[in-house]
Amino acid sequence: MSASSDNPKTYTGSCHCRAVRYTVALDLSNPSFEATKCNCTICLKTNRLGVRIPDPEQSFKLLSPASLDEVPSYRFNTKQTQHRFCNKCGIHILCYGEYEYEGQIYKVFSINAVTLDQDQEGLDLRTWKVRFWDGKAENWNAEPAEKPYPGGSYY
Ligand SMILES: [Zn+2]
Repeated sequence: MSASSDNPKTYTGSCHCRAVRYTVALDLSNPSFEATKCNCTICLKTNRLGVRIPDPEQSFKLLSPASLDEVPSYRFNTKQTQHRFCNKCGIHILCYGEYEYEGQIYKVFSINAVTLDQDQEGLDLRTWKVRFWDGKAENWNAEPAEKPYPGGSYY
């Protein structure tokens, strides 16, 4: 795999009431860029469109509130991943944390891409490649698929 191309662009995102606002650098022109849908309990019920941010320290900036500590967190199961929701409008913004799989620790930082503000140049969710994961079965070795795994949905 080649490294990401050299033209990431900065986009703004927000929850519905705009209490939570952020910027994120994404390289949407990179052929390897893709969004994910997953059939696990939290992704399905939030209908989350995930985009993994490999380097959040560089690429992600919270504009409001001052700290993620002010955005309520929800954890479940192993409680290693924090899901952050706006406490006014209820929109799922992002999740991050670590999880262990087959003895290895993986770090994850993933925005809910439907919180990206629309009408930004170069941003058209209809053109995105979306691939499907089998989180419900914790089947992380499976290739992300073109169709949802059982228990998942397209939209
Ligand atoms: Zn809100």
